[in-house]
Amino acid sequence: MDSFQHTVKRAVKFAGIGLHSGKPVTLTVLPGEENSGVRFLRSDLRQGEPVPAFLDRIVDTRLATTIATDEDVISTTEHILSALFGLGIDNAVVVLDGPEVPIMDGSAGPFVHILRKVGRQRQKACKWMLKITREISYADGDTTVRILPHDGFKVTCEIDFDHPLIRRQRFSAELNPASFASEIAPARTFGFLDQVERLRQNGLALGGSLANAVVIDDEGVVNAEGLRFADEFARHKALDVIGDLALLGFPLLGHVVTRKSGHGHHHALMKQLVAQPERWDLIAYQPEGPNRVLAKVASTTREASDKLLSYLLPPSLALAGEPCFA
Ligand SMILES: [Zn+2]
Repeated sequence: MDSFQHTVKRAVKFAGIGLHSGKPVTLTVLPGEENSGVRFLRSDLRQGEPVPAFLDRIVDTRLATTIATDEDVISTTEHILSALFGLGIDNAVVVLDGPEVPIMDGSAGPFVHILRKVGRQRQKACKWMLKITREISYADGDTTVRILPHDGFKVTCEIDFDHPLIRRQRFSAELNPASFASEIAPARTFGFLDQVERLRQNGLALGGSLANAVVIDDEGVVNAEGLRFADEFARHKALDVIGDLALLGFPLLGHVVTRKSGHGHHHALMKQLVAQPERWDLIAYQPEGPNRVLAKVASTTREASDKLLSYLLPPSLALAGEPCFA
């Protein structure tokens, strides 16, 4: 990790189709200003301010994570956000000419491959991170999602499906841009054949095919090429949770541990975090020697989500004048 913010070196364009609409969509990642975070813009709608990728914009978490302001709906945000956060890109404007992020091959691999080729641009502002100081958790039935204090960013995901091919899978990794790119980004989304057929009857997953998802039937994997990893399903869960937690607006210093979770649970965990500001600090990150110096900048006491959002929304840019290292 770095002590300064980064954006993309230049504009990057991706063309694909929406998983649910089946319609062509173009996604362009543009360089973003310091302290502006990741924001989405619908170029096919009226020209307005980009929508911050922030949890208070979440309007739907049923099949994918959808954010919106008024009619500016942006659906399936998790894979592109996972790619940007996994690669340590703090600021960017993601421009879409339709309501859905293109599904590409069902993973974050194509985004990550091209973004790494283009490279990152270091910016002058220091890198702000959410440092977890005490466990934050959410539970619902046999689902648990937690973030534990950790000196780095680590993800552990466990899934449990009543299918002979999957059953219980657990994936755990300490992450940096290189390990994210090789261990998590290529893992594809997956679905069960009968479930896919039901979605299609309801006018969903119209763009879904073996080119953008691992499909499983009673026998096993339908895709001729098989799996990319034996535990590809659990790795994709890690991809999704990183993309969902990116909606906190800041990268995490902590260990995310999930069991049988989905987008709705990840949203609930973020709400827990926002409601308990005594369990985290917003810090200027400085990797220096074996003992990193972490300058405590803000520990909010009131409406922490408003405070977090105020850091993201221009023109307040409350952090812009803050010194990087206290
Ligand atoms: Zn996914």
